[in-house]
Formats: sequence, structure tokens, C-alpha cells
Amino acid sequence: MVVFKAVKKPIIKTSVAGAEISPLRPQYAVKTPPCIGTCPSGVDIRGWLITIAQAEAYGRTNEQAFEIAWGKITERNPFPAVCGRVCPHPCEDACNRKEKEGGVAVNALERFIGDFGIEKGLKLSRLSQEQRSEKVAVIGAGPAGLSCAYQLARRGYPVTVFEAFSKPGGMLRYGIPAYRQPRAVLDAEIQRILDLGVELKCGCVVGKDVSLDQLRREYRAVFTGIGAHKGLKLGVPGEDAPNVFTGTEFLNRVNSGEEVPVGDKVIVIGGGDTAIDAARVSKRLGAEVTILYRRTRAEMPAIKPEIEGALKEGVAIEFLAAPVEVLRENGLAIGLRSIRMELGEPDKSGRPRPVPKPGTEFDVPATAIIAAISQEPDFGPLPELHQGKDWINADRWGATKMDGVFAGGDDIELGLVSIAIAQGRFAAEAIDAHLRGVPLEMPQAPPPIKTEKMKLGWYKPADRHERPLLPVEQRGMDTEIEQGLSQEDAIAEAKRCMSCGMCMDCETCWMYCSNNCFVRLPKGEHYKVKLELCNGCKKCAEECPCGYIDLI
Ligand SMILES: Cc1cc2nc3c(=O)[nH]c(=O)nc-3n(C[C@H](O)[C@H](O)[C@H](O)COP(=O)(O)OP(=O)(O)OC[C@H]3O[C@@H](n4cnc5c(N)ncnc54)[C@H](O)[C@@H]3O)c2cc1C
Repeated sequence: MVVFKAVKKPIIKTSVAGAEISPLRPQYAVKTPPCIGTCPSGVDIRGWLITIAQAEAYGRTNEQAFEIAWGKITERNPFPAVCGRVCPHPCEDACNRKEKEGGVAVNALERFIGDFGIEKGLKLSRLSQEQRSEKVAVIGAGPAGLSCAYQLARRGYPVTVFEAFSKPGGMLRYGIPAYRQPRAVLDAEIQRILDLGVELKCGCVVGKDVSLDQLRREYRAVFTGIGAHKGLKLGVPGEDAPNVFTGTEFLNRVNSGEEVPVGDKVIVIGGGDTAIDAARVSKRLGAEVTILYRRTRAEMPAIKPEIEGALKEGVAIEFLAAPVEVLRENGLAIGLRSIRMELGEPDKSGRPRPVPKPGTEFDVPATAIIAAISQEPDFGPLPELHQGKDWINADRWGATKMDGVFAGGDDIELGLVSIAIAQGRFAAEAIDAHLRGVPLEMPQAPPPIKTEKMKLGWYKPADRHERPLLPVEQRGMDTEIEQGLSQEDAIAEAKRCMSCGMCMDCETCWMYCSNNCFVRLPKGEHYKVKLELCNGCKKCAEECPCGYIDLI
């Protein structure tokens, strides 16, 4: 990655004479930065950020750098524009830059690159031109199934995806509302996968229209990514009224274009993403909305900005309250009897257990009630996958107890889009190894780079670029709330990446070395260290801002 520049090496007094001379010698050692370490999809975030940041130094145009960045992301994640909108971005929370002015806005940048890919019509790349003869079936066209199909298709396998609904996308289409996840963006990113030759059969319920056994006979491997679409019931009297919905059912119906009459007073029960989405959608249908959550805001599992968004749009949240009974008149729900809760000892999830306070019941009127407390896979048509547990039992690579059957995504554990994408990829790698009869190897990640190893003071202060939000009064069912970064802001934001644990050609080691140990190498190869000239002053390692140099 070294870039030759006409720089005269400045004379820096390293006070070698006074420095402690040791037998230790420098060694370049790549580390895992916190962004990559926390990204469920394992995308080389540092790599693509630095590609954008160093476009000029490498003699590339910005567009060339964006295209390379897009290629790096789509190696592991074929949905950058989708994830750049809905991923809760644990990478940003872990970013070392948060110790300064806030973590790098990776998610907004991912969206910028994803949108660039759509706008330019970039094509997903194949890993080889080899055509494999073994056919693979994928059940479910959610992010897990489509990621698996993508990774298999680019390895040359003929893949057919069987999808129950009339359109692909899973919860990205039938759960997450369009004001967060525009359908044109989703369609474009799915089409690119299909363009690799993946066959998609929509409106085909496996277990009803075609059996799992038949797929196992006709295909050499089967991946099941059926998600978790069965909303859990509240378990309280009266909830079988026609105006009481589960969160997934309600969102599915609205997102399918159905008119769902909710009236003017909706109560949503739950504290996760489904509850927040159901509440904000109900608000857009014209209702006054209250969310009932049995713990406090601190324990709410929903994505934090989504909670803030709901509150800004006028959704009320009643904390420390739980439903007791659906109040009915003529068969219809007319209200909810609830009880106040208090927090007790931690439960299995580690969160404080909500405990009812006797005698604190209260009634709230409602024209519709939405129970968005959780969901599980619908094993109705596929009982053979339901092996005595609520979820499919699969190992780290997605292999199930059924020979040649793999699984991933929400049907093995409720998760995130990025987790489903990663599990689809793992299963594709496992299927590839299974069909080739070769062992699977989990690549060893380099050790993590700790914040203490970074020289944060070396980096110039640079404020984070936030993406603009649509004003509340302009928001609607299909108008996207979060706007994209401008190109100028995107480049400036990428330049905030500190390249933790990886050389960024800053030349600090070269400048500080008074013995000329560091010899420049051609582009991309950093420096050669002439250890025979090293006197062990340790300055290079001490001054390296990104913790790339170890002393051994
Ligand atoms: C309302 C809501 C909001 C969410 N918000 C976010 C968010 O902001 N960020 C985030 O990261 N995650 C979010 N999630 C979670 C995320 O959507 C899921 O983790 C992810 O979609 C799981 O992917 P999947 O492919 O495993 O399953 P799904 O996306 O559920 O896809 C499964 C597919 O399988 C199909 N299928 C099921 N049974 C059959 C069958 N028998 N035959 C054929 N096809 C079948 C289904 O129709 C579906 O299309 C949200 C979830 C919900 C419900």
C-alpha cells in the first residue's frame, strides 16, 4: 500500500541516545480492527473505507475507488444498499474513533456505496467460471436464502430458490416498512443475485406445493432459510378477537398492500423492532398509538434510533406495564387490561425480570391491539424440521442432523439481516465443501487491536457526518426517512477511518527511524524492515498511530 511521494525525510530527533535500547525488533502485524471484529457479516470494513480515503494517493478517481469498495463489500454481503439502511451497525459502536468525536459512520457510507452500485448497475462477480453439475435447492428468499444462493451461484452451482410469498426478500419486504427499506433498492439488489443465473420460484410453499423429501431427492443439497414468521400470542384471555393481531401478521398484511382497519387507537405490546415498526405503521394509518413494554427503556431490544424515531413521530410508550386481558364487546377488542410491573432479579437473558405489582391493574381503550412480543419459525408445512425445539438445530456451518440439509437465519435463532447474510454464506461454503468432499476450514482472524495500542492523538480531529432525516411532518408510509450522504461528505467520512491495525502509509515509522531500517517498497507492499540496522530503540512501534508494528 506504499505510495511514493516526493517527500524529503525530515530529521526528527528521536532522542535515541536517551531512549531505552532493547533486544526487541519491529515486525509488521495486521490486527483485526473492532469494526471487522463486530460485523456479523465479517465484511472488510477497514479495507473498503481506506480504499475510498486513499483514492487520490493511489491515482484512482473517486468513482474507481467506490467501485473497488463495492466489490470488497459484496464479497461477503450482496446487500450493501439494504444493510446501509437497516443494519444496527455494531461496527460503529465498537469503532476506536468513538473515543474522539464519535465512531466512523460506516452504515451511512455502506448505503452510499450500495446506492452507487445500484446507480452504476454494477454486477456481482463470480468466484470461478467453473460450472458445477450438482443442483442446490434453497427454501426461502429472505437474506439468508439469497445470500446462500449468491455464494453458491458464484461458485458455479445451479441454484433454485423456493419462496412461499409472491415476491422475494423475506422480512426485508414483508416485515420492515418501506419508509426504512425502499422496495426499489431491495428489488435492485435481489435482481443482481438472480442475474448470476439463480432460479426463483415464488408462490411455492415447500411442504405443501413440493415436499422437502422431493427436494432432497432432486437436489444434492438443501438450504432452509424459512425465517420466523409466526407471531407469538400474548397468552391472555380475549386475544382471539379479529382486531387483535400479531406484529408479523399485521406488518405482513400492510406490506402486502392490504388495507388493515385499525381504527384510531392502537395498542402495541412489545419492545423489539417489530413492535416499533408496527407502532410507526399504525401511526401512518392515522391512529393514536401507545406501546406497552414490560421493562424500561434501557432494556428495550429495539434499535435505539428507531425508538427515538417513534417517539418523535408521536408514539407514546408506557413502560413497566404488561397485558392481563383483552377487553371485548360483541366479539371485538375494545381495550386492554394491563398491570404495572417492577424490575426484579436478572432472568436468563441477563435483563431484570419484570414482576407484576398486585392490585395495579388499569384499563386502556383500543380499536386494535398488536401483540409484537416475538416470533418463531412456522413449521406447519415442514414438521420434519421441527426437531423437538422451536428452532432448527444447526451447527456453526449450518449443517443439520438431516444429511445434505443446511439451515441459517432466523429459523435457527432470531437475529439480524447481517447475521442471516453471514449464516447463508457459511452454509454455502459448507455445501460447497460437502459436494466437493473436502474439509472445511475456519480462517483464523488476526488478533484484535486494542484501543490502548492506538495513538489517538496522532489523528486530526474530524467531526462525524450524520445523514439528514426527513422532517416528521413530511414522513409517510413509503417516503424514506433517512437520506443519503453527499459524495463530499462520504469521502470526508471515510477519511475519518483510523485504519486500526493496518498500515495506512502515514510514513511515521520511516520518519522516526534514525537508523534508516525502513526501506520503501512498491505500491501495496508497505516497507521492508532491515533488522540488521535496527538498534532496538522501539520508536517505530511506539509512534505507529494504528498499532501495526509489534516488537518481537
Ligand atoms: C418487523 C421487523 C423489523 C426488523 N428490523 C430489522 C432491522 O432494522 N435490522 C436488522 O438487521 N434486522 C431486522 N429485523 C430482523 C431481520 O429482518 C431478520 O433477522 C432477517 O430478515 C432474517 O432473514 P431470514 O432470511 O432468515 O428470514 P426471512 O427474512 O424471514 O425470510 C424467510 C423467507 O422464507 C420464506 N418461507 C418460509 N416458509 C417457507 C416455506 N415453507 N416454503 C417456501 N418459503 C418459505 C418466507 O416467505 C420468507 O420470504 C427485523 C425483523 C422484523 C420482523
